[in-house]
Amino acid sequence: MIKVSKFGGSSVASSEQLKKVKNIIESDIDRKFIVTSACGKENKDDYKVTDLLYLTYAHIKYGVDYTNIFTKIENKYKSIVDELKIEIDIDKEFDIIKENMKKGCTEDYLVSRGEYLSAKCLSKYLSFKFIDAKDFIVFKYDGKIDLEGCKNNFLKLFTKGDSIVVPGFYGSLPNNDIKVMTRGGSDITGSILANIIDADIYENWTDVSGICVCDPKIVNNPKKIKFISYDELREISYMGANVLHDESIFPAREKNIPINIKNTNEPEDPGTMILNDCSEEDKKSYQPIITGITGKKDFFIITVKKNHISSEAGVLKNALEVFYEYDISIENLLASVDSFSIIVEKNKIEKYQYEIIAKLKSKIETEDIYVTKNIALIAAVGRSFYSHVGLAGSIFKTLGDDGINIRIISQGSDEINITIGVENNDFEKAINCIYDKFVRSEG
Ligand code: ASP
Repeated sequence: MIKVSKFGGSSVASSEQLKKVKNIIESDIDRKFIVTSACGKENKDDYKVTDLLYLTYAHIKYGVDYTNIFTKIENKYKSIVDELKIEIDIDKEFDIIKENMKKGCTEDYLVSRGEYLSAKCLSKYLSFKFIDAKDFIVFKYDGKIDLEGCKNNFLKLFTKGDSIVVPGFYGSLPNNDIKVMTRGGSDITGSILANIIDADIYENWTDVSGICVCDPKIVNNPKKIKFISYDELREISYMGANVLHDESIFPAREKNIPINIKNTNEPEDPGTMILNDCSEEDKKSYQPIITGITGKKDFFIITVKKNHISSEAGVLKNALEVFYEYDISIENLLASVDSFSIIVEKNKIEKYQYEIIAKLKSKIETEDIYVTKNIALIAAVGRSFYSHVGLAGSIFKTLGDDGINIRIISQGSDEINITIGVENNDFEKAINCIYDKFVRSEG
C-alpha cells in the first residue's frame, strides 16, 4: 500500500508535536512519503512561521529592522533541533538564508524557507531522504502546475524503496526561481505527490478528527463527517467550509485517490474519508441524508422586473455582460415570468452598485430594478438528495416552523445541494435548525 502523509503546521509546531508525527509514521510501514508544512502555532498566542517570514520580507522591503521577527523563527527551529537532538547544522541553514536575504532574495524564496527547514529537520529526525520540492514540483509560467513535468522530475530523484520527506507549499518556475502556492498550499503538494506516485491513499494530518458537518462556531459540537464525495466537498468548501485547500482535491481526484483527514493528536480516530464515490460505504452503514451544511453571509439580490421579460431573447445575456464588465462573478440566478434575480457577493458589488444598476436599466430598458441587501446563503449538501422525495419540502417546513423567512430557494440540477437564502440575522439560527432536525437527531 502506498500512502502519502501530509502533516500540517500544527502537527509540526513543536518538538512535542514532532514526536507524535514520528510515532504515527513509525506505526505504519506504508507511511514512506511524507509532506510537511512549516511550523504552525504551538498555542493561540504563538505565530505561524510562514506569517513571520512574510512579515520579515515586508520589513526588508521597507528597510525596517527585522531582527526581532527573524530571531523568533531561528529560535523556533533551534529549540526543535536541540530538544529532539536532530543532527543537522541548523546554524548553517540559517546562515545561507541570511546570506540570500542580504543578496536580495525574492519573497517566494524567503517564505518557502519554513517548509524547507521543517522538511530538513523532519527528514533527519526520521532518517528519511530529503527531496526538495523545488527540484520536482514545477509550475508553468502561467502559474499552473505541470503534473507531467513533476512526475518526470520526481522519478529522476527517487529510487525505489526510498522513504522521503518533501517540503510542501512551493515548487519552481521554468527558470528555476522558487514559486510558492497560495496559503495552505502544502495540501496541494501532498495531492500532487499522491498523483505522481499513484498512491493508494492521501492522508492529510491536521489538528481535528475530520470535517465537521457544520461550523463548530455556529453549531455546538457538530458531528464529524465520516464519508464525503469529492463533489460534496467542493460544494461545502465553496460555500465556506475551510478544510483542505480548494485546489488540493484535483490531483488526487484525477487518479481516484481517497483523501483521509486525520488528527495528529488523536491518531486512532478514523477522521473523514473523501472518496470519488461513496456508494459502497453508504451500503455498509447508515449515512445521514445531509452530509454538510455551510453558508456565507452578505449577499445582494439584484431583482430586475419587466413585463414578459422571460420571452425576450438576450435579456439575461445583456444583464450578465454588465457584471462581466466589472469582473463580478454571479453566485446564483433565479428567473420568473416577469423578473429575474441575480445574487452576488456584497463585497464584489458594493462599490459599483449604482453604476451597475444604471447600466442594467439602460440595457434592459426598465426602471424597475431593486436591490435586497443582507442576505445569507445556506447550502445543505448531500449525495443522496436525488433519492429522497420531500427533502426540500421538509427543510423549508423546518425553517418555517422556526419563524425563519426564506428569501431564495435553489437546487442544482445534479441534486447534491439545496441552497436557501435567508436574512443575515437568521443565518446561525437557520443552520442550527437544519442541523437539529436532519443531523443531530439522526443515526
Ligand atoms: N505554511 C504555509 C501557510 O501557512 C503553507 C501550508 O501550511 O500549507 O500557508
